Amino acid sequence: MFATVRTIEEILNELAPMETAEGYDNVGALVGRRDQEVKKILVALDATWDVVQEAEEIQADLIVTHHPLMFHSRKNMLEDDVEGRILCEMVRHHLAMIAAHTNLDKTALSGSACCAKLLQLQNVRQEGYLFLGELPKPVKASELQDTITRALRFPTRLYGGGDLTVSTLAIGGGACDEEWLQAKELGAQAFLTGEVRHHNALAAAMDGFALYDGGHYGTEAPLVPVLAEYLQKRLDDVQYQVRVYPSQREPFGRV
Ligand SMILES: [Zn+2]
Repeated sequence: MFATVRTIEEILNELAPMETAEGYDNVGALVGRRDQEVKKILVALDATWDVVQEAEEIQADLIVTHHPLMFHSRKNMLEDDVEGRILCEMVRHHLAMIAAHTNLDKTALSGSACCAKLLQLQNVRQEGYLFLGELPKPVKASELQDTITRALRFPTRLYGGGDLTVSTLAIGGGACDEEWLQAKELGAQAFLTGEVRHHNALAAAMDGFALYDGGHYGTEAPLVPVLAEYLQKRLDDVQYQVRVYPSQREPFGRV
């Protein structure tokens, strides 16, 4: 018995049902054939050009990503733009692709949940896309900034609340800054997200709240090894001969 793209899509669907994805999203199998055999899977945050090259080098059959391609619908597959080049390269090399995006964001394997684990939050609970919990001990917001930077290995910016003592931290990875008010209502003194727009930075600072920008990549990349490990375990359990690799290609510099 061998695994196919459909097998992997079904495993992912059990973890993160596709119908729970936002209406604007584009999840599930996006490239390739569902009956195509899969022996090697590469898991990455994004199907970048580098990631596709990595998949070719390890002779992967399938790339599983968090962010979809064709998030904005397109009307051709010309190689005039980066996405077109990536799609054509995948087709040329018989590489299939599956994305689990906002459906994954609501599970214990989301970037936010993975960050909560890296930051050793206690008593972690989930509210929609947010994961919040208590820090091992209360710390100054400015001190927590360094802790987050070290844990995510990505530069973190703090808006407001430098002297504030933080005991409860809420996390909404990726593009989630509008949720800082919900984080505050849930009792957090600080919120870690991946992209902070000026109006939210200002409002939070004036409100005596600590708002961290850990980078979209920084707050979501932690899910890659966790998702790869999960898929490997699920496939091993049913004795499929499939190897799952977390991508080693990083689009940005680390700290
Ligand atoms: Zn994202």
